[in-house]
Amino acid sequence: MFRKFSYHCVNSKSSCIRWVCSKNKRGKCKAYLKAHSETPDVPTEIFDVHNHEPPIYHITKEGDYIKV
Ligand SMILES: [Zn+2]
Repeated sequence: MFRKFSYHCVNSKSSCIRWVCSKNKRGKCKAYLKAHSETPDVPTEIFDVHNHEPPIYHITKEGDYIKV
């Protein structure tokens, strides 16, 4: 999760560099991040222009994200 949007890794290698928006394929959203998997909160490159609103998540007591 980054700035209310969720991203997933597109690298199959052990170290994940490039992350794309969860709606990259279905929503054709072009937003992406470049960050190391150890420090996803500190992207080295950010392109966070989304073509959609951020998904609404509910955070449980356990700290899990549930898509509403
Ligand atoms: Zn997006």
